[in-house]
Amino acid sequence: MGFTQKKTILYKTVDEINLIKQSADLLGRTHGEVAKMIQPGVKTIDLDKRAEECIRDNGGIPSFKNFDGGVKTLFPGSLCISVNDTVVHGIPSKYVLKDGDVVSIDCGVILNEFHSDSAYTYGVGNISEEKRNLLLATKESLYVGIAQMLPENRIGDVSYAIQNFVEKKGYSVVRELVGHGIGRNLHEAPEVPNFGKKGVGAMMKNGLIIAIEPMVNLGKKEVRQLNDEWTIVTRDQTPSAHFEHTVAFYDGKAEILTTFAYIDAVYSI
Ligand code: MG
Ligand code: MG
Repeated sequence: MGFTQKKTILYKTVDEINLIKQSADLLGRTHGEVAKMIQPGVKTIDLDKRAEECIRDNGGIPSFKNFDGGVKTLFPGSLCISVNDTVVHGIPSKYVLKDGDVVSIDCGVILNEFHSDSAYTYGVGNISEEKRNLLLATKESLYVGIAQMLPENRIGDVSYAIQNFVEKKGYSVVRELVGHGIGRNLHEAPEVPNFGKKGVGAMMKNGLIIAIEPMVNLGKKEVRQLNDEWTIVTRDQTPSAHFEHTVAFYDGKAEILTTFAYIDAVYSI
């Protein structure tokens, strides 16, 4: 999710980063539980139920459940589940996953009063080479962005690196939705676009915590929102992929706080 945030960046202490790590570990375990269920025949609402159960059983609160995005309807799920041409913010439903789908699972957890936020896109059963390459490139673009979290670099360096990597592969980057600072609020300053210029925006500084989340379309960059006020789809109906980590800048380097390790244990693209 990505909405307008307040402008002041709230830098975190080491103690606060350690609290976020615990939130992020529960988030990782939740992703792992969902990953085990990804297969043809599964309803997306059942993935959502499992995620909520895992989060609450371990003392957490789903960040997205009843999230107020400033529209009439609060977000009803614990997961955003976005299938094929849905980019982000898909609402869990009776939709049954089928062979060849791609499905992005975005999840947020509150634990210790701190949010963590991460997303992963899966192929369901056997997917086309074209879709597989989209997933691999989008995942790689996330790490290309994280690699720019260096001393003296700025948010724009992260943004530019992601855009440059993605566009060289022939894909396009969504403009309307961006990554964000994160902490006691799901969305804090600064915004972290997946496109932009080198050398602009906030500088890397101890205690900066950002969710970096490239949203990459196989076709054109344009998106539209469905009447449910949430679901974002590609205008040209081509598939889209989304990967996200919550990352800290501390001691002159990036530290990825969220983890795909629980996913990697049961699934590979
Ligand atoms: Mg996010
Ligand atoms: Mg997210």
